Amino acid sequence: MPADYNSTVEEIQRVLKEKTKRFAFKKLEREVITTGACVECGSCVEGCPVGAISGSRIDNKYVPILTGECTSCGICYAMCPRAFSIEDNLIGNVKSAWKVRSLRNYRRQDGGAVTAFLEYMLENKLIEAAVIACQTPDIPWLPIAKRVTSKEELHDCGGTIYTHAPVVSEMIKGFKEGLFKQAIVGTACNIDAIERMESHQAGFFSVNTDASIFKISLFCMESFNYADLLKFLKGEEIQIKDVKRFAISGGQFTVTMDTDEKSWPVKDLDSAAATSCAYCQDLTGLNSDISCGNIGSDDGWTTVLVRTVRGEKVLQGALKAGIIEAEELESKSVSAVANSARFKKNKFYSLIAPH
Ligand SMILES: Cc1cc2nc3c(=O)[nH]c(=O)nc-3n(C[C@H](O)[C@H](O)[C@H](O)COP(=O)(O)OP(=O)(O)OC[C@H]3O[C@@H](n4cnc5c(N)ncnc54)[C@H](O)[C@@H]3O)c2cc1C
Repeated sequence: MPADYNSTVEEIQRVLKEKTKRFAFKKLEREVITTGACVECGSCVEGCPVGAISGSRIDNKYVPILTGECTSCGICYAMCPRAFSIEDNLIGNVKSAWKVRSLRNYRRQDGGAVTAFLEYMLENKLIEAAVIACQTPDIPWLPIAKRVTSKEELHDCGGTIYTHAPVVSEMIKGFKEGLFKQAIVGTACNIDAIERMESHQAGFFSVNTDASIFKISLFCMESFNYADLLKFLKGEEIQIKDVKRFAISGGQFTVTMDTDEKSWPVKDLDSAAATSCAYCQDLTGLNSDISCGNIGSDDGWTTVLVRTVRGEKVLQGALKAGIIEAEELESKSVSAVANSARFKKNKFYSLIAPH
């Protein structure tokens, strides 16, 4: 083996030791090989610095097998194109993580952080408009996208609607009307549409350098098709017009009415999930400035992952202005978010969740 190959391997080992979590081959075996996600590329076999993994042919299939002693250096796992448990792959680039509660009074889903950030940005003229989702006036819980410029309008639309809303379309209408500084709230799929507009050479934001959009993503395990949600509720003898609040928390879907509350495991509603959700493996919205959800925080608080410098400025600004209170999230809470993100990825790959 040429000397420079060995020194490269040594450098890789040093980086892994210092900067990444180290995993044993067992983890690769459990998550990738036995589940059938292995693409038979051989990167783990050839990448193992101590030659402990062999590529065997079993029933004409190439299968990596541990034949030597695993040193848990983590290289096989880190190089595998199907390994996804590395926290960066699950929740993306996170500069800081918080639990946040708004100190102002309005209708909200969790801690009201999303509304508070938008309010701060509007009040301080960091944005000209915010694009959010509200209920369609005559059709309860059917979302419409709305461009708002006042805190009163923001307060009217606090809370979560568990159905896709065409917020990106509304944002573009705003640009056409000359509103070049906007914030948008959406699930990862909405935010990804904007990322395309930023990264593609023909995308609106790569062509128009005056335009800027602050992206707030909402954690999302799945969104529902409105007609199928209605059908599910009907089966449970619930009229959607009587629903005061929907919530997904701790794997449960909860419907609150005036005098009653009912809950089901989220998986009971799989048949009502939007078909597009089957193509999604991003829980938190990797391409946003700030991601918000309830996983990882106590009731009444919002978990906030800050991903960009301007995201950090908005959180610190809202804190300084006395609009929110915030505490840094404990690492076990960040892990809870990563675990849910892993669950979503497992679902995408139709894998059995690793233990
Ligand atoms: C489809 C969906 C699924 C979700 N699933 C999870 C989950 O599995 N786990 C989890 O931890 N969190 C989930 N969330 C996020 C969670 O419900 C809260 O939205 C989040 O915690 C923010 O709460 P808040 O009190 O800070 O927001 P608030 O201050 O109440 O503000 C919420 C903002 O979101 C806007 N909004 C509501 N619905 C939509 C929509 N469909 N599209 C775009 N904007 C919208 C509102 O207009 C409002 O401006 C989901 C959200 C959605 C939309």
